[in-house]
Amino acid sequence: LFVETALGGGVAVPVDGNGAHYLISVMRVREGDTVLLFDGQSGEWAATAEQVRKRDLVLRCVQQTKPAETVPDFWLCAAPIKKGRIDLVAEKACELGVAKLVPVLTERSVVDKVNLDRLHAHLVEAAEQCGRTALPELAPMIPLARLLADWPAERTLFFADELGGAPMRDAFTAAPGPAALLIGPEGGFTTAERDLIRAAPQARAISLGPRILRAETAAIAATACWMAANGD
Ligand code: SAM
Repeated sequence: LFVETALGGGVAVPVDGNGAHYLISVMRVREGDTVLLFDGQSGEWAATAEQVRKRDLVLRCVQQTKPAETVPDFWLCAAPIKKGRIDLVAEKACELGVAKLVPVLTERSVVDKVNLDRLHAHLVEAAEQCGRTALPELAPMIPLARLLADWPAERTLFFADELGGAPMRDAFTAAPGPAALLIGPEGGFTTAERDLIRAAPQARAISLGPRILRAETAAIAATACWMAANGD
C-alpha cells in the first residue's frame, strides 16, 4: 500500500479513506496482521496493524523488506492526450520503470490541461500492482519551448519523429546515460516545433518504424525499447 508518511523503523502510519477501506473491508486486515507499505522513497516496509477501527487504522513499521529502489534515469516527456489514453501512458510508464513523467504542451495539443491528481493516482496504482517502490516523479505541464530552453546539458533527448530519424534501437544503444523521450500529440508536432527540437544540442531524432503509431503506442513502445537497451 502506498502511504504519504515517510517510513522508517517504529514509525506509526495512520491510514483512513480509501486505503483504510481497502485494508479493513476488502483485505479484512485485523490487529496484529502484517501489511506491506511504501512511500515512494524508502523501499518497502512490513508494518503491523494496530488500532483497527471501522474506518481507520494505524500501521506500525517493523522491518524494511525491500531497500530503496534505484530506477533507470529515463524521463518520458509527452504531449497530453485524451483522458483514457494518457492514463494508460502513465500506468505503463510506471510499470516500465520511468523515473519522471513530464506532460508537455504543444501547438497541436487537443488537451491543454492535465489532472495531476488523477495521473498520480494511476502511478500509485501501477506501482502497487507491479511491486515498484519508487514512485515516478510527476512534473506539472510545461510548454515545449520552456522545456527545451531549460534542458539539462547531460541528458539526451530522444525525439520521436514520425517523419523520420535514426532507428530507435541504434540511437538508444549509441547514447547510454541519462535520457528522455519526447512524444508528440495526436496531431503531431508542427514544422516550427520540429525545427526547434532538432536544434537542441541534446536532441536525437528517432524513428519508430514506417507506420504512424498512436501517441500512446509510441510512448509505451519506445520506452520499452529504451529499457531493454539501457534499463536494469
Ligand atoms: N493521430 C494518431 C493519434 O491520435 O495518436 C497518431 C499520432 S502521432 C502523430 C503522435 C506522436 O507519436 C508523434 O508526434 C511522434 O512523437 C510519435 N510517433 C508516432 N509514430 C511514430 C513513428 N513511426 N516514428 C517516430 N515517432 C512516432
